[in-house]
Amino acid sequence: MPMLDAAAERAEKGAAPGQDAAPTIEQTSVAGEPCVLLKLGEIVLKGKNRELFERRLQNNIRAAVKGLGIKIQVWQREGVIVVRTESGELAEVDAVARRMTDVMGIVWVHRAWRVAKEVDATVQAALDLVGQHPALLRKGAFAIRARRRDKRFPITSSDLNVLVGAKVQERYDLPVNLKRPDMVVFIEVDQREVFVFTDGTPGAGGLPVGMSGRALVLMSGGIDSPVAAYRMMRRGLRVDFLHFSGMPFTGPESIYKAYALVRELDKFQGGSRLYVVPFGKAQQQIKSSGADRLQIVAQRRLMLKTAEVVAHNLGGAALITGDSLGQVSSQTMQNITALDDAVGLPILRPLIGMDKTEIMAEARRIHTLAISELPDEDCCTVLTPRRAETRAKIEDLRQIEKRLDAGEMAEQLATSLQEHRPSYGEPPA
Ligand code: ATP
Ligand code: MG
Repeated sequence: MPMLDAAAERAEKGAAPGQDAAPTIEQTSVAGEPCVLLKLGEIVLKGKNRELFERRLQNNIRAAVKGLGIKIQVWQREGVIVVRTESGELAEVDAVARRMTDVMGIVWVHRAWRVAKEVDATVQAALDLVGQHPALLRKGAFAIRARRRDKRFPITSSDLNVLVGAKVQERYDLPVNLKRPDMVVFIEVDQREVFVFTDGTPGAGGLPVGMSGRALVLMSGGIDSPVAAYRMMRRGLRVDFLHFSGMPFTGPESIYKAYALVRELDKFQGGSRLYVVPFGKAQQQIKSSGADRLQIVAQRRLMLKTAEVVAHNLGGAALITGDSLGQVSSQTMQNITALDDAVGLPILRPLIGMDKTEIMAEARRIHTLAISELPDEDCCTVLTPRRAETRAKIEDLRQIEKRLDAGEMAEQLATSLQEHRPSYGEPPA
């Protein structure tokens, strides 16, 4: 069993702050130690800020694994991150790898074998990996794809391909097919060790959560707003959630849905907070003020004004909604313009150009669709006028708000909220 070179180990132990010390490699079914190798996307391109981004991602990785109760170590390598478990048990490494597919900023997740930086150890790991694939051994072709991040390694990538390929062929009598292989063995020579692995799983991509700052999502119980939240988390925003319930004129079902949705979305960021505002009485006041066909847009403006106060208190720099152009009457160009007029904060609308079918496909993929489709009584469906205005005039809306003192109403609503902390780790209600 090869051991890591002692000098490399010492270098590792003196690693930069936030980096974990190196272990010794234990005997396992493949000649090496199982680990998770993470390929980073855009983060690699960010020049000077790169270190900050990498540190943010490392912290997010640690936070994501916390709920699993598995002890890990995280190492930054050039353009990749290595996660190893303290136990080295395969089941634990697999669980960590699965969890990594929800962490924003990671493009590929590979279950890899970390082996000593020696040609013999590399060949042995490749042989073992191929040997673990009975289907391939019965009938199939393979390819070796090697690359060196450390050019001091005595063998070039193409020579390594030829050498390891020849050994695999000799041992298993399998054909090589570089164009359409049934199995690819990747070999990456790093500064301190060699990684050997087969295909991986696509990661979530995007930027690490928190890197772009903080924003507040207006979260209905519907299909769109959870997808909007997901999209903006994926661009590096840490988000808080604000839900308006129709209570006391509706039941609490919409709150349960918002809670379940946030618990599902929490897997992408951790530590999520959901704020719930009872909005029914405010809706009734809007109605009494004679809003008539402007009822829905006036409600949405009051939601936005309230959200602006809440965002201010939470340090949020933007509001996020699930609006999609033309999807419902409140989402015409004129009405969207009237909504933007209600607040000073930017309103981010990541779904603005998406079709409903596309939004639904994404909701299914991130596991929010089934929750969104549960029945509830949305606050916007009570007190809805028979014909909603599609071309709301800002002046008319301002008149209504003047009569109501909407600014004061928003301040009041922002103090009446309830805080919840739906967490991905907790069992469903
Ligand atoms: P969704 O599927 O997200 O409910 P929708 O297609 O039903 O969206 P609207 O009801 O017009 O469209 O809402 C548009 C956006 O306004 C929502 O995506 C959400 O961001 C916000 N919103 C609507 N209702 C609420 C609510 N009760 N609480 C918080 N935000 C809301
Ligand atoms: Mg809705």
